[in-house]
Amino acid sequence: MRNTKRCTGKTKLIVPLVNLTAQYLNIKGEIDKAIKRVLNKGRFVLGEELSLFEEEFAGYCKAKYAVGVGSGTEALHLALVACGIKEGDKVITVPNTAVPTVCAINSAGAQPIFVDIDKDTYTIDPDKLESFLKKRRRLAKIKAIIPVHLYGHPADMGSISRIAHKYGLRVVEDSAQAQGAEYKGKKVGTFGDAGCFSFYPTKNLGAYGDAGIVITNNKKIADKLKMLRNYGEKKKYYNSIRGFNSRLDELQAAILRVKLQRLDHWNQIRRSHAEVYNDLLKNTPVVVPIEKKGTKHVFHLYVIKAKKADKLGKWLKKKGILAGKHYPIPIYGQKAYKYLGYKGKDFPITGNCIKHILSLPIFPELKREQIGHICCTINNFYKHC
Ligand SMILES: *Cc1c(COP(=O)(O)O)cnc(C)c1O
Repeated sequence: MRNTKRCTGKTKLIVPLVNLTAQYLNIKGEIDKAIKRVLNKGRFVLGEELSLFEEEFAGYCKAKYAVGVGSGTEALHLALVACGIKEGDKVITVPNTAVPTVCAINSAGAQPIFVDIDKDTYTIDPDKLESFLKKRRRLAKIKAIIPVHLYGHPADMGSISRIAHKYGLRVVEDSAQAQGAEYKGKKVGTFGDAGCFSFYPTKNLGAYGDAGIVITNNKKIADKLKMLRNYGEKKKYYNSIRGFNSRLDELQAAILRVKLQRLDHWNQIRRSHAEVYNDLLKNTPVVVPIEKKGTKHVFHLYVIKAKKADKLGKWLKKKGILAGKHYPIPIYGQKAYKYLGYKGKDFPITGNCIKHILSLPIFPELKREQIGHICCTINNFYKHC
């Protein structure tokens, strides 16, 4: 019945892509208390809040270790370094990802290599990965794979782990968009040598600033990460390796501890929002996102494939609905990465997806009426355009 009310286009209902203020207001009491606690203690880096958050996040993911760092990009960068990736190495990832995946590879001194994606999950296509590795003669330089659990849908970790093992490659999971997502009942980030998360404010679990974390079951990697994030020190003023400064500060850790307790609940709401969308878009030409059997999608983004997607995006915007496009330009099309020498025709699936994708608003505080309004507006678009 929800879809029966007409969206005549006369009432303009503003729907943002995300609404972080609404979320804060719902948990204000606890957040304010956590912030005060840190200010009163007067310890701002590498303190108790971080240790507790690391313990709690590792526990949540069922990983042995977690090491908090300054951002998701740094989580990836330091994880690569901790896995032994160095100057001149090559790292495989996908061309349709947030650019930080590639920034991190460059920061480690390595060069990114792209493999095309699966058209339904938008994650690395294991068949293409394997045939690429089979053909390559200069495998020696290829040291690692970064699968990206894009939009919150897990990559095919079973196949990827098998292939990585076969070719002796490290796996560093880019789980920035997938806190809480699962593959065969296990949390993403626990399949590879390291799992990297971003707590950028808009992520499913977001800080109030920059923050990130790496999880691992490998003690050596965890120990090395703890040195890398803190100038390369194991003991104060003793620098056994060359390091960086990339720490998850106490204020963010305290905030994230409050929000971690709600992550499952928020993810559940995202999933039910996705179901409402799927249902209401059933009779439109729009292709809704899938959830592969054996996976748990956490809908960081709700990405549809649509005819005239860009025109639809503009139409929605005119009606007050802010849809997005993740991402409008593939990495190989970016000026900064022209040096890699890739052509659009090297990645036909990515190229085709980019033409049709559109991210509709999804966040826990979104109202069902708003979803109804959005779907109705989409319906009107296809009737009129
Ligand atoms: C957000 C994001 C990152 C980077 O995280 P930051 O915390 O902004 O550095 C990396 N990869 C993907 C896929 C992301 O979405």
